[in-house]
Amino acid sequence: MADWKEGMPPVVRFAPSPTGYLHVGGARTALFNFLFARHHGGRFILRIEDTDRKRYQPDALAEIFASLKWLGLQWDEGPEAGGGAGPYFQSLRTALYREHADRLLAAGRAYRCFCTEERLAQLRLEQEKAKMAHGSGYDRHCRDLEEARVRALLAADTPHVVRLKVPDDRSVAFHDLIRGDIAYDSAQLDDLVLLKSDGFPTYHLANVVDDHLMGISHVLRGDEWIASTPKHILIYEAFGWAPPLFAHMPVILAPDGGKLSKRRGAASVLDYQRAGFLPEALRNFLALLGWAPGDDREVMPLEELIAAFTLERVQAKAAVFDETKLEWMNGVYLQRRSAESLLPDVQAIWEKMELAHDALADEVFLKKVIAMFKERSRKIGEIAENSLYFFRDPLEYDAQAAKKYFKPDMLPRIDALLAALADLQPFAQDALEGLYRRLAEELGVSAGKLIHPTRLAVSGVGFGPGLFEMLETLGRETVLRRLRKARGQIAARGQDGN
Ligand code: GLU
Repeated sequence: MADWKEGMPPVVRFAPSPTGYLHVGGARTALFNFLFARHHGGRFILRIEDTDRKRYQPDALAEIFASLKWLGLQWDEGPEAGGGAGPYFQSLRTALYREHADRLLAAGRAYRCFCTEERLAQLRLEQEKAKMAHGSGYDRHCRDLEEARVRALLAADTPHVVRLKVPDDRSVAFHDLIRGDIAYDSAQLDDLVLLKSDGFPTYHLANVVDDHLMGISHVLRGDEWIASTPKHILIYEAFGWAPPLFAHMPVILAPDGGKLSKRRGAASVLDYQRAGFLPEALRNFLALLGWAPGDDREVMPLEELIAAFTLERVQAKAAVFDETKLEWMNGVYLQRRSAESLLPDVQAIWEKMELAHDALADEVFLKKVIAMFKERSRKIGEIAENSLYFFRDPLEYDAQAAKKYFKPDMLPRIDALLAALADLQPFAQDALEGLYRRLAEELGVSAGKLIHPTRLAVSGVGFGPGLFEMLETLGRETVLRRLRKARGQIAARGQDGN
């Protein structure tokens, strides 16, 4: 499909192998393919490369689908979506790969190799011993077997693989849309296996055949595949097909410059979901791993990403996975979300906490609480945890804040507050604010002298949402009860001499 011309709608694919969960690197590759297709009005195909039966993991497929959907990366063609170029599972296409391997055999571009595992192991051992830098790999033992000998071996059902005849001493070059011109010396390339002895194709054969048959115009994949590309170029040549365009995405490193690992960033997409991240935040964050819009924007919802995404702006240099930035980004998107849309996730966490409170069934109340906390949380879980005092009286008071605000001179002020709050009508934000200001004046203190101790008394901590909104939501009865309890504490402290 190299006959693709500027302006034509591109066709791209994400081609995961179901060997495990979808980690952030894979998700970034899927996202870049998706954004590229959407930006140019092209098609985004999902293809499952499941021919490696040894590494196949039955649960992986469901994880991959769920991860992509959660991130909003709906594919146009593929499993569940259908499409004319399917089936989209390579395991359902094996006859096709065999047929194509046969074509290369007939054209003299490939050959059958009958070498046993033992022979190959022996060969490797000898090569290691001789420290052969050049010419290591398969020694082409079967490349020129006589026809009659091949026929006899086949007649005896001798197990064999099919290998590509890699041409001697030439350069295999391609233009990478991100890294520029790249050339390999063919002498460095082994006569690679196309078809394994179990009749299954290797990644290389299946990948090339499918990219061609599915009309893929651009192969956008991770940097770790770059060494496979010259092999693929040779396979395209052997078939007489024009190769697609290639773009290899930069690697993603941990903040310390090391490799990403499960503990450092490379967790699965669904782990991020479980940890309380929003899909739009993770998606925005992933888009900036190796790409930037070219201005100073960072917070970019999907439509903006699609409008701005081009390959010219993908960098070749490694990207760094900065979890702190992801948390910040998540905070930004939490603020933008409605309390209503966050309700199911936050409610699920509260429910697990077994809070035994009627309010847990009161959606209006719950949404008010979420609205107060989403402004100052970085993860969904923080909303649930920091707002626990809406469901139960504080079990203790933050020690530092208590030292500062729970002093004996608070006792008469709390008494005044208790009296005024008991009669306040209505028990609502504005009226509460008016009451605090008025009372402060009467008592000859700053409003803070009443506000901070009240906050500590009702929440147990020294920070949180606006006090008057909080008091209104908690309700008169709760506020009075908690103020009385705090009063008791202060009085007891005074007697202790603290
Ligand atoms: N199946 C390969 C993977 O797991 C696909 C690589 C490619 O995009 O060519 O990533």
